[in-house]
Amino acid sequence: MTTPTSPLAADLPQERRLVTAIPGPKSAELQARRVSAVSAGVGATLPIYIEAAGGGVLLDIDGNSLIDLGSGIAVTSVGNAAPKVVAAVQEQVAKFTHTCFMVTSYEGYVEVCEALNRLTPGDHEKRSALFNTGAEAVENAVKIARAYTKRDAVVVFEHGYHGRTNLTMAMTAKNMPYKNSFGPFAPEVYRVPLSYPFHDGRDGAKAAADAISRIDKEIGADNVAAIVIEPIAGEGGFIVPAEGFLPALVEYSNANGIVFVADEVQSGFCRTGAWFASEHEGIVPDIITTAKGIAGGLPLAGVTGRAEIMDSVHVGGLGGTYGGNPVACAAALGSIATMEELDLNAAAREIEAVMRPRLSTIADKTGVIGEIRGRGAMIAVEIVKPGTDEPDAALTAAVAKACHAQGVVVLTAGTYGNVLRFLPPLTIPAHLLDEALTVLEEQFLALTGH
Ligand SMILES: *Cc1c(COP(=O)(O)O)cnc(C)c1O
Repeated sequence: MTTPTSPLAADLPQERRLVTAIPGPKSAELQARRVSAVSAGVGATLPIYIEAAGGGVLLDIDGNSLIDLGSGIAVTSVGNAAPKVVAAVQEQVAKFTHTCFMVTSYEGYVEVCEALNRLTPGDHEKRSALFNTGAEAVENAVKIARAYTKRDAVVVFEHGYHGRTNLTMAMTAKNMPYKNSFGPFAPEVYRVPLSYPFHDGRDGAKAAADAISRIDKEIGADNVAAIVIEPIAGEGGFIVPAEGFLPALVEYSNANGIVFVADEVQSGFCRTGAWFASEHEGIVPDIITTAKGIAGGLPLAGVTGRAEIMDSVHVGGLGGTYGGNPVACAAALGSIATMEELDLNAAAREIEAVMRPRLSTIADKTGVIGEIRGRGAMIAVEIVKPGTDEPDAALTAAVAKACHAQGVVVLTAGTYGNVLRFLPPLTIPAHLLDEALTVLEEQFLALTGH
């Protein structure tokens, strides 16, 4: 479908431009091929096919240019095909593509681990290990915590999302679409209540006391290897726990020999206006898992933790054929350099400063936004029946669909399917973010009869 004249990311006009309906005829044709070639179990938010992407736009094969407020689910934070990522990948891929780090090693892997150890919270001695996906990182964090503590139990939270492998399905809260019909699930995973201020009204201390009481009464602190939590629940709907909730859990973990794992696969790497979302609450996790935004779109994931924990595993106990692939490591180093040079933490904070007032205006005009929440460029609105906290999943889906038809890619989330989440590339040009918010407002107004 692509032609030799397909534009490069760097040459894409930074504009929203619709030349066909969404999807256009070429995408529709490819969609038909997909149906007969690709498992129906693999879904898609929009039935369009992309031939180039960069800055703040996705160009589809019909020539439509859409504004990207999703970043491929918080992955292309540095922008799609970011120049430093492209250059680093091109250089590495022409030298060697793979050796397996566990067979013969290379510098890029070590350099990424050094960067992770430097950038993650806490100035203690750290070690890292690299994998391919977020789910793999979370699984390995659990393996490491179990080896270190010689305990079995893993504590996770309502609304949590940790992946689609067997262990991480067990750790993930939501049944559809992640778990339904895929059991039985891994044992020794216990779910306790999250702090969800909009729905539970509890302060952080009360919410933490409730969770801790459940752990003490139903599991027993001495049996717990790890508490695993997203500092901001991603797929759960960008739920920011009440202030004090995370520090209380860290304190409890420290007092009871439990490994506290922050799953920052979605919230990490400048997304929230800090290198890691843990920083907003001043917590220092024992282990932190990373993936998504780390490598500008190439598959890479990391587990970073206290040296004594990370080094407690027997030699050969951690690894995988592709983990820390040299091309993915080059991409990560290009991404991290981009984040530092362009100060993408500041860019994420600026995106929040632009978005919040615009979303407040929509909330005031329509009455259907129960809460605007999140941090930095990880912002969401929870959509409710006016004046209540009752979820309105139908309106949420309708707004998303209407935005897609107008050439703005937005994603939904939330246990109740009533959260619209925004994850723009941190490099999105200001005029595109502004235009996307105007489109969003128009769809909200139209669909609520305003
Ligand atoms: C996406 C995600 C994962 C899983 O990552 P994959 O790369 O899809 O396996 C794990 N934890 C969190 C918080 C995520 O957002």
